[in-house]
Amino acid sequence: MSGSDTQRGNKKPDICLEIRDVVKQFPGVTAVDHVTLEIQEGEIFSFLGPSGCGKSTLLRVVAGLENQDQGDVLIAGQNVNELPPYKRDCNTVFQNHALFPHMTVAENIGFGLVERRLSKIEIKKKVAEKIELVTLGGMEDRRPDQLSGGQRQRVALARALILEPAVLLLDEPLAALDRKLRKEMQIELKRIQREVGTTFLNVTHDQKEALSVSDRIGIMNEGAFLQIGTPDEIYEKPGSIFVASFMGATNIFSGKVVSQKDGKVELETDQGLRVFAPEPENNTSDPVVGFSVHPELIHLKPETSDESPSDPANQTIFHGKINEVFYQGDFSEFTVALKETDMLITVHLTRGRGYRLQMPEGQNVEVSWDCSSNNVLRG
Ligand code: ADP
Ligand code: MG
Repeated sequence: MSGSDTQRGNKKPDICLEIRDVVKQFPGVTAVDHVTLEIQEGEIFSFLGPSGCGKSTLLRVVAGLENQDQGDVLIAGQNVNELPPYKRDCNTVFQNHALFPHMTVAENIGFGLVERRLSKIEIKKKVAEKIELVTLGGMEDRRPDQLSGGQRQRVALARALILEPAVLLLDEPLAALDRKLRKEMQIELKRIQREVGTTFLNVTHDQKEALSVSDRIGIMNEGAFLQIGTPDEIYEKPGSIFVASFMGATNIFSGKVVSQKDGKVELETDQGLRVFAPEPENNTSDPVVGFSVHPELIHLKPETSDESPSDPANQTIFHGKINEVFYQGDFSEFTVALKETDMLITVHLTRGRGYRLQMPEGQNVEVSWDCSSNNVLRG
C-alpha cells in the first residue's frame, strides 16, 4: 500500500463510486436486484439496457433520490446511505434539463455557486471557464428559450460541472435530441469529460451511444448487470444470448458442445450444423449454449465464383440462396437461407466491400466466415 493509501485509511483512491449489493423494490417489481459495482475515478461508465431494466432507479439510488431497501453506496470512499441528495458529492443531468427560464445562461450556470456563497468575482471567473468548456461564448446573456436543444443541454452540463462533483450522473441527457445533434453531443460529452476528468455515470438505452462514449459499459437487464466490459469487449465478445442480441449480433445459433480440444470447441446447433469456435478465454462453469457471429464478419459470394477462402480448414462455410436484400445506404443487409437447414444468415456488406457483386434475391451463394469470428455464448 502506498503512502497516500495509508493516509486515507483503507479506501481505494482509484474507486470513485462503489455500489455494494444494492436492492430496490417497487410494488410488484425488483427494479435493482443485488447490484455490486465499482466505477473508477475519471472513467465514463454507461448503464446500457432496455427500457424498464432499472437504469434510472440505480442512478437515482446513487443520487439519493430513491432510498435502497438494502446495500451500500459509497462516493469517493464515503458511505452516503444516510445523506440527502444535496449533501452527496454528485450532480445529476436529466433529459429534461430543468433550467431556470427567467435566468440567463450565465446565471443558470453560476446558480449553485451563488447558493454556496462564493464571491461575485469568483463566480464570474468560474462561469467564464465553464462557458468556454461547453463552447457557449457569446451566449452568456441569452435565456433558455433563446437556445437550441443542444445548447440548453450544454448549459445543463456546465451548471452541474461547476460544482465540481466527484461523479456526474447523466440520465439519458441526449435522448430527446435528433439523430445528428445527438451524435454531435456524444462527441462533445466525451471531449468535455476528458477535459475536466470528472467521473461520468451515463445512463442510455442506445447501443451506439454507449459504444462511442464509454470507457466501460454495464449491460443491464431486469435489475442486474449481465456483463461489464470495455465497448469492444461488449460488442465483440458478448457472453450471453441476451447481450449478443441486444448488441446487434443478428446471427445467434443455439446449440451444444460436442467436443472440446486443441483450443477449439465444436458445437452442434439446434438445426444440426457443426461449427468450430475458439475456446473461450475465461472459462466459467456456465454451460455453453451457442455462439454468435456479427453480420459484418461474414463473406458472401456467388456460388459460381471461383474465389476460394484462403484458409478453408479454419472457415465455416455454408451454401444457400439470397432471400432478401435491404439497402441501407452505407451498407446492404443480405439474408441468406441456408440449403442445409431453414436458417437465415444475415450478412452486411459495406459499399467498399461488396456492392460490385450485384447479388440479387434468389441468387445461389456461399457464405463463409473465420472460425475465430464465432463467439461462444453461455447461459
Ligand atoms: P429504466 O430507467 O431502465 O427504463 P427504471 O429504473 O425507470 O428503468 O424502472 C425500473 C422498473 O421499476 C420498471 O419496472 C419501472 O416500472 C419501475 N419503477 C420505476 N420507478 C418506479 C416508481 N417510482 N414506482 C413504482 N415503480 C417504479
Ligand atoms: Mg430511465
